[in-house]
Amino acid sequence: MMLEALYIHIPFCKAKCNYCDFLSFTGCTVELQHRYIEALKKEALLKNQKLDLEVNLKSIFFGGGTPTCLSSGLLVHLLDFIQANFPVEQGAEISVEANPGTVNKEKLQLLYEAGVNRLSFGVQTFNKEMLKILGRIHTPEDIYASYALAREVGFTNVNFDLMYGLPGQDLKDWERTLLKALEFNLEHISAYQLKIERGTPFGQQMEEGVLQEFDDELALDMYKLADDYLGNKGFIHYEVANFAKPGYKCRHNEIYWRTKPYLGLGPGAHSFFPPQRIENLGELSSYINMLEEGDSPPCISEELTIPSLMSETMFMGLRLLEGVNLEDFYSRFGQDARSVFSGAIKKCLSNGLVEINNGYIKLTHLGLYLGNIVFEEFLSDN
Ligand code: SF4
Repeated sequence: MMLEALYIHIPFCKAKCNYCDFLSFTGCTVELQHRYIEALKKEALLKNQKLDLEVNLKSIFFGGGTPTCLSSGLLVHLLDFIQANFPVEQGAEISVEANPGTVNKEKLQLLYEAGVNRLSFGVQTFNKEMLKILGRIHTPEDIYASYALAREVGFTNVNFDLMYGLPGQDLKDWERTLLKALEFNLEHISAYQLKIERGTPFGQQMEEGVLQEFDDELALDMYKLADDYLGNKGFIHYEVANFAKPGYKCRHNEIYWRTKPYLGLGPGAHSFFPPQRIENLGELSSYINMLEEGDSPPCISEELTIPSLMSETMFMGLRLLEGVNLEDFYSRFGQDARSVFSGAIKKCLSNGLVEINNGYIKLTHLGLYLGNIVFEEFLSDN
């Protein structure tokens, strides 16, 4: 299979958000930034040598962390290096995650001129108080300013990440978030429910009883509202949590959802070369030190069995609203998904959660709202 996607993890943030369990560190010095970029370059070369795959990158994604915490000079240097060492398709999607308040015109201009063509802003909410509660460093004004700069320098593909199910949030507040986001004429919106993870300040508050589990029914109403409002404003709901104007689906994430191979660089990054999954360990100093010594970074790898690969193909593919193409499934595994998952399909069909149409198995509208039940069925039926 062809390697089409490269993910580069930039694990630095200005401050740690109260809900964040991503691998990111604060207090990054300029020296550390330089050492980290050099380590990433070494890992890229090592992985490139070891790959037993054809490469034609359709997507390069700088995620984090906050990639825009780095100087643009370093990001551009890294991007140039990647383009010089990996075949990159003409017109490939090149995305950078950015946080409002961490960009200025010069930074965005440099990224744009270097070939970055998609910006994804971690907006989450426009509510000033909520932003503080979340521990975000930006203000609503920063969102407007950063967005305006992005358009000014020429970006034509901009995403906002939004979040619902925030502590104390009601439906009205979420509606205001959606309406404000719609004022921006965006190409893409992601809408995720806040998950409280152990080991975060919010997780701690939950253990202490200060923070309560968010009400499931209210969360579902919020999800339905996003589905309605965005759908009515020309967005295609193409993945459980993602909405795009025609022609602007996130190509990078589509490669994940279609369980195609991808390479991840950086501590904590995942790579997938079916049937092998590799996870770099998340220790920043050992990552840098080992690469400085010329060794591969510490990682764990797992060989997926064919049944678990098939389950993963269904579980991930059903997140896409177009569903899983049955012919593609057959040509990949030599088996019919309808036989392999006969139990799950029968149950979900009779409950009205999935449908089979024109060679695709996909979620129904009801199934979209009860996606977790469907995914569970497919994970346990193999
Ligand atoms: S900006 Fe993103 S990665 Fe950084 S701490 Fe906040 S949630 Fe985590």
